[in-house]
Amino acid sequence: MFTPAFIGLSANLPSSYGPPEKNLDMALKILGEKSKIAAVSPRYLTSPLGVKEQMPDFLNQVIKIYWADTARGLLDMLLETENRLERVRPGDKDGPAARTIDLDLLLFGKEIWNLPELTVPHPRMFGRAFVLVPLLDIWSEDDEIPGQGRAAEFLQNALNALTWSLDNRYIVQDN
Ligand code: ADP
Ligand code: MG
Repeated sequence: MFTPAFIGLSANLPSSYGPPEKNLDMALKILGEKSKIAAVSPRYLTSPLGVKEQMPDFLNQVIKIYWADTARGLLDMLLETENRLERVRPGDKDGPAARTIDLDLLLFGKEIWNLPELTVPHPRMFGRAFVLVPLLDIWSEDDEIPGQGRAAEFLQNALNALTWSLDNRYIVQDN
């Protein structure tokens, strides 16, 4: 049985494969070999949110896949893919760190998980324009959010509650 899942991709450092754009290309290629990719959003450039130090803008994208295994199995595959794309995790991070690739599990069917290593729906997704904008781009009538009957409306309301702007695929959000 296949479960529909939404994945948030984000990158703002080069890897040995190339610039952030290339890291997203590589991530899509790997995910396409391990799952069925059902929808792919446009890519948005995003000014870093909630960071103190200077860092490059992020490239963000959301995709929908069909996954044949469990949510944990999917998360393991995402973490393994991050490692293949040279993701380094600084030990003492203060806010989001720059990265070659970040793969977040946003939604996994109607499942709810509240574990430190697996929290789904992703706890911060509803406060982030760089997730909500591309997610709404590919959202369909059949897609669901656990506990939210009218999911599209719920997402739109979450986005409307944020202070953000979009200019030619560049997203700026105030904290
Ligand atoms: P962030 O995405 O917040 O910058 P990381 O990518 O470094 O943080 O993820 C740290 C940990 O978060 C991972 O080891 C993973 O087990 C855990 N985690 C919990 N829920 C999720 C989720 N929905 N998607 C991705 N990682 C998650
Ligand atoms: Mg992550």
